[in-house]
Amino acid sequence: MTSVMETRPKKTRAGTRSIRPLARGDRPVEPVIFEKSVPGQRAVDLPPLDVPRVDLPPELIGAPVELPEVGQHDVMTHYTHLSQRNFSVDGNFYPLGSCTMKHNPRINEWAAALDGFAQLHPLQDDDQIQGALRLLYETRCFLQEIAGLDEVSLQPAAGAHGEFTGLKVIRAYFKDIGQPQRHIVLVPDSAHGTNPASCTMCACHAVTVKTAHGYTDLDDLRRLVNEHGANTIAAFMITNPNTAGLFDAKICEAADIMHDAGALLYLDGANMNAILGKTRPGEFGTDVMHFNTHKTFSTPHGCGGPGAGPIAVGDKLAPYLPGPQVMMAEDGSFYFDRDRPKSIGKVRSFSSQFGVLVRCWAYIAACGPDGLRNVAEKAVLSANYLAARLCNVYEMPYFDPQKGRFCAHEFVTVPKSLLGKGVSLNDIAKRMVDYDIHPPTMHWPLRDCLMVEPTDTESKRTLDHFVDVMLQIAQEIERDPKALAEAPTDAPIRRADEVAAARNPVLVWDG
Ligand SMILES: *Cc1c(COP(=O)(O)O)cnc(C)c1O
Repeated sequence: MTSVMETRPKKTRAGTRSIRPLARGDRPVEPVIFEKSVPGQRAVDLPPLDVPRVDLPPELIGAPVELPEVGQHDVMTHYTHLSQRNFSVDGNFYPLGSCTMKHNPRINEWAAALDGFAQLHPLQDDDQIQGALRLLYETRCFLQEIAGLDEVSLQPAAGAHGEFTGLKVIRAYFKDIGQPQRHIVLVPDSAHGTNPASCTMCACHAVTVKTAHGYTDLDDLRRLVNEHGANTIAAFMITNPNTAGLFDAKICEAADIMHDAGALLYLDGANMNAILGKTRPGEFGTDVMHFNTHKTFSTPHGCGGPGAGPIAVGDKLAPYLPGPQVMMAEDGSFYFDRDRPKSIGKVRSFSSQFGVLVRCWAYIAACGPDGLRNVAEKAVLSANYLAARLCNVYEMPYFDPQKGRFCAHEFVTVPKSLLGKGVSLNDIAKRMVDYDIHPPTMHWPLRDCLMVEPTDTESKRTLDHFVDVMLQIAQEIERDPKALAEAPTDAPIRRADEVAAARNPVLVWDG
């Protein structure tokens, strides 16, 4: 396994004082001509005809299709050049807050591609797939241990899907114990958009809880429980560490408020990478949680996939988990248990997002308990290092080392004084592209904020480079804020009309 730095060809020298945006010459040579089709060129030679020739009637053939005519080598260079125009975790610093774009060790890819895993048919009998079942069972046990909870279902295919499944389980539980009227889910105003959406999908009503200084306002939580009536509340759905980059230390109190009301605590575990091996959600009162294995335990993700969102629950909710459940028999063999009368049923075809779980298993097995704790410590250290070096120029509402206020694995900046000089947040983000850095998450959880998450595997050199770039952008704004309105000026694609790109995407090259 190599570290990220070793696999990442760095085109700028990190840590030097004067950084310049990448000039064209620093980039892989651009294809001079995008349109490569030349009439008569072919990428393949078909073997000679070895069956009788048949002439199709013209009405079956239709009009000729205009396909590009390109040689094999040109096809390859075309796609390679296109790939080099992308930002990626393998090529760039990618500090996308909350999304946790972390290093994906190549050995995980190797493991997921092993024939014994990749070529399985999902309908094979249990006795033919003992290795795969063992991997699923062990992943289940790993995640139970990390969660500090009693049973894990590996079925959900993403974090949002885990939320949906967890809420379905909560609904099934309350229905079963004769309290189907509990349909209100309390959600902090800083929550990820999927949280209230999942509530709606499960016929629950999401009610917003205020946050104060980045933390849940417990008085507001109590007020809402009283206002709506304790017996209408199903759960409080909280992300911890939250999207302000803070660990809500009053989580046990929040859990007590829920449990006193007969309701449950749902933990959105998207930020588990900050607390791995440090604390376990089950120990701070969580009844149900989801993991985003693609954020916490590697797997390259983005643009909607791939991921896995296993959920963990305490004993009293376990009977309602989706089935079939992977089990170990007394003789040490593995099987799918389909006899679960109270289960909410399947939430996914077949067993799970299997290839992603192979990567998850490989990551956890390679790290071990000490390694996982190290992941959390390094992630938190990296974020605090960046925040401490930048907070005098980029204002941070929740971070103030003088007052002992630190962050978890990510931090939020609202760069008010820079924005006051006549640039937009978008200008700053687009300028980062010129310096080969992927812009952080924007405008969430606060208006005009950047949410920066460096992850655990970035070297100090990369972190220092990021700081230098951010300080340099601040200087550029001092000198000439208008210049940033053009950014990115050195990227293969200039500033795109993002609204038009989303509403009227042009996906076909028409020469
Ligand atoms: C990413 C994220 C989700 C959604 O997870 P997906 O795997 O993208 O569906 C939910 N909550 C938080 C806080 C997240 O960061």
